[in-house]
Amino acid sequence: MNRNEISEWLREVEHPAKGDRNIVDLGMVQSIESNDGNITVTLVFSKHRDPLAEYLIGSTKAAIIRNAPAGTQVEVNTIIKDEAPKKKPGLDLGFEELADVKHIIGIASGKGGVGKSTVSVNLATALARLGYKVGLADADVYGPSVPKMTSTEGEMPDAFQEGDKEVIMPLEKYGVKWMSIGYFAKPEQALIWRGPMACNALKQMILQVRWGELDFLLIDMPPGTGDIHISLVHDIPLEGAVIVSTPQDVALADVEKGVNMFRNESVNKPIFGLVENMAWFTPAEHPDEKYYIFGRDGGIRMAEKYGIPLLGQIPIVQSIREGGDSGEPAALSSRPDGLAFIALAEKLASIL
Ligand code: ADP
Repeated sequence: MNRNEISEWLREVEHPAKGDRNIVDLGMVQSIESNDGNITVTLVFSKHRDPLAEYLIGSTKAAIIRNAPAGTQVEVNTIIKDEAPKKKPGLDLGFEELADVKHIIGIASGKGGVGKSTVSVNLATALARLGYKVGLADADVYGPSVPKMTSTEGEMPDAFQEGDKEVIMPLEKYGVKWMSIGYFAKPEQALIWRGPMACNALKQMILQVRWGELDFLLIDMPPGTGDIHISLVHDIPLEGAVIVSTPQDVALADVEKGVNMFRNESVNKPIFGLVENMAWFTPAEHPDEKYYIFGRDGGIRMAEKYGIPLLGQIPIVQSIREGGDSGEPAALSSRPDGLAFIALAEKLASIL
């Protein structure tokens, strides 16, 4: 692996805020070292806390991992122009941008595919319909879905410098302020995030955003219960969590992990309730019928077992899936599925 070869790989890393020019052409690659299966790249940034710094570091690592022989060790250092080299961009982010946010709530699930993002987006939309000021930070680094579910894909949030700090503006649609790592990554660009890198990118997506005055900031957390969750809960002043599950036993077994994580001594945050998604199936042409295809009342039993309220039951209906795919959340409608999300929003607001 010589430098020229590695430099070619780095041309795959495009800067989304600079007309998709690659980091080599932009002169951001300060040095490349390669010896004995170790590659060290140093990237140069022109300002403190570039909101895309973590994303570009991650993408640089990913480009090398994709192209280099398996087992190659990759390190990416950064320097700020005119400053002494340091290992990581400054991420001593404070909570200033959250100063006017009343409730910060994590939306979590024990496993993926249970509809956590669908519930997050619709809950945010429903809260806004009820007149609350709402923001949603899509912290699902492994599969950011907010851009698609709100049809804001391809939009680029504004960013500006304020003193020594870079501030990112959320996008606004359906009365909700949205932020997602998906706005900074192309859909086809596989995000290979690892622990600390993912955590830093997430922190930026929450702490560097000018949320302004909000009643609720929902955080769509990554699925599962790994290290990234624990560190997210430590780094963000979460007030508590809502857990989403489907009624099958396998999904409910994962709820137990989620509950234990929030109740773990080192995390110790309240769980405001459980949302049972896909609670039953209702065909569009027979709106009064209910088929319990994933089992009946699993969510109710689980909520009782753990002493947490069941905040709501959301049916499986085609329009909810279509709303996700078309970017018009079902919660905007006054159909039964839309009203189910309104009821959920009312319940959550009443508990808080
Ligand atoms: P997660 O965030 O838990 O991975 P998603 O919210 O992405 O799950 O949902 C997975 C898929 O299931 C999506 O295609 C979504 O549209 C669909 N879906 C989620 N909830 C429902 C529902 N209640 N009715 C119909 N489809 C749903």
